[in-house]
Amino acid sequence: MFTLRPNMMWLWTMIFIAIIGFALFGQAPKEPLKSDWSEVDSLIARGMVSRIEVVNRDEALVYLTPEAVAELSANGESRYAALPEQGHHLSFQIGSVETFRGDFDKAVALSPTDVALTYDNHRRGWMDSLLTWLPWVFFIVIWIFIMRGFGRSGGGGAGGGIMNVGKARAQEFDQDDPNRKVTFKDVAGLEEAKVEIMEIVDFLRNAGKYRELGAKIPKGALLVGPPGTGKTLLAKAVAGEANVPFLSISGSDFVEMFVGVGASRVRDLFEQAKQKAPCIVFIDEIDAIGRARGRNAGFSGNDERENTLNQLLTEMDGFQTNAGVIVLAATNRADILDKALMRAGRFDRQIEVGLPEIHERKQIFDVHLRKLKLDPSLDREFLARQTPGFSGADIANVCNEAALIAARHNKKFVAKEDFLAAIDRIIGGLEKKNKVISPAEKRTIAFHEAGHATVSWKLKNANPLIKVTIIPRGKALGAAWYLPEERQITTKEQWMDEIAATLAGRVAEQIFFGHLSTGALNDLERVTKQVYAMVAYYGMGSKVGTISYYDSTGQSDMAFTKPYSERTAQQIDDEVREIIAEAYAMAERTIAENREGLTALAELLLEREVVFTEDVERILGKREGTTPAVEATPAVEATPAE
Ligand code: ADP
Ligand code: ZN
Repeated sequence: MFTLRPNMMWLWTMIFIAIIGFALFGQAPKEPLKSDWSEVDSLIARGMVSRIEVVNRDEALVYLTPEAVAELSANGESRYAALPEQGHHLSFQIGSVETFRGDFDKAVALSPTDVALTYDNHRRGWMDSLLTWLPWVFFIVIWIFIMRGFGRSGGGGAGGGIMNVGKARAQEFDQDDPNRKVTFKDVAGLEEAKVEIMEIVDFLRNAGKYRELGAKIPKGALLVGPPGTGKTLLAKAVAGEANVPFLSISGSDFVEMFVGVGASRVRDLFEQAKQKAPCIVFIDEIDAIGRARGRNAGFSGNDERENTLNQLLTEMDGFQTNAGVIVLAATNRADILDKALMRAGRFDRQIEVGLPEIHERKQIFDVHLRKLKLDPSLDREFLARQTPGFSGADIANVCNEAALIAARHNKKFVAKEDFLAAIDRIIGGLEKKNKVISPAEKRTIAFHEAGHATVSWKLKNANPLIKVTIIPRGKALGAAWYLPEERQITTKEQWMDEIAATLAGRVAEQIFFGHLSTGALNDLERVTKQVYAMVAYYGMGSKVGTISYYDSTGQSDMAFTKPYSERTAQQIDDEVREIIAEAYAMAERTIAENREGLTALAELLLEREVVFTEDVERILGKREGTTPAVEATPAVEATPAE
């Protein structure tokens, strides 16, 4: 194996410096003189040249007679003082062998002595060849360093080095270390998932019981859910509960630029796993390799990924069910995976890991608040209510962020307001208090946001508003924060009111300033996507009708062939335009009816930068729809005005 070890570095460096130094300064003191034809011509005429050697058809090496050397250096002609004793004495470049030959013949005809002429094609000084090779040596050394870098960046296990590209870089978690051991008590909520996965724990613990009965245990299970919902955590907990090693690798680790590497890494991973059996192999982001084969074939040249996937299937079929290796894989979309992965004897179980509901969020908070020093009066229910749509990872993040904020204010305990600030920050990004915004822009933003607030307040099916701000945060210059209801289905009326509220920013700008701005980009994008989904997926369009072009299997090449005719495409476009126009008109009407209220709200925003539900209620009157029961804050739907 050839890899440079770091402690050899200095040696290589020295050799390198030596070579370069030698090339630059190490020339022997007496070098052949550089000359030209006219000088050599006259030397020949004086009978001083004994022979000439033409090298590589472009250089002539001139050997003088010993008498000539003695005479020239004795004459004190300074140029000849340093003629070398050995080898040739002069050299010059020739244009072409043919013209040189002609000149030479003429010169020799006039010479008193004969001059030998020889040709040589490969004679080169070792210095010359070294200089030719130097760039290559340099290149190769650099290449080796780059490859070593690659090997390292993979991180973990099997170490780096170019010779290790085919090795799987699975990370192994040491379950013996009590500080790192993860068990089910670290996983909050996810009750159904835990029940299903308990079976796997039981198999790993009492393999004998199952084997005796002749039962076949699943070789793998697929954990399906959005990012940050605890899939990795759950897999680790399985290993922790069963007290077996946990090998973890990400699907993207299999994808490399070299052909055959992915497949070889899969082979290596299973080799490692079999040695450690019983154990859990966890493949995160399996979609990186497991996407359905044959889609977009010929476009992206995905042969390499297919080979990797095939190898994975082969390995899963290859080992016996009682080998004690259980493969858990995570993905956020099961529908795009190759169906072959889900066949019996492979990942034949799918475990849903969804976003936590309110009571689950409370439990997740409980887990992560254990580590913090809390204000004793903190209400955990309240925190759970404030964080709809948050994943477990978001909640972990809120807890940590809150502790950081409390520390920054030199507090003894983490208190409610720290959590609220952390939630705001995680939804909207960092506050950018010192972003430069001109007064005119500020006015536009205030009216835009007041527009959202007014319309969402007045249309009873829209999400209840919680606060409006024009403090720039993240990429948004202002935002209206809503508390989305935790609902499973949405009606068309709810959507129409929400779309009208989203368009209201643009409408307010149009009504109050008479010009359009780029600030509504994000609003318009959301509305357009939403309405397309209403028409093409949810069958809510009156012209297109009760039809859905949604493809939950993800297996057909939707991108290339639309499942509907050109005429239907036209209808969908028309229908989308009409629905958006209708919502726009709703927003216009609502704003026209509440002109004074909106203006008052915008002025208050300009004065205070943040306006809460109470203020909106005071200005616009009591809300017909649901009013949020919570005090202030959360969101999910920030409307950037940039
Ligand atoms: P995923 O693999 O689904 O993307 P992870 O398992 O990596 O998500 O979760 C990231 C972090 O979020 C975990 O380390 C943990 O701190 C926190 N977390 C997520 N879900 C839960 C949960 N149900 N209970 C406790 N912590 C959770
Ligand atoms: Zn907006």
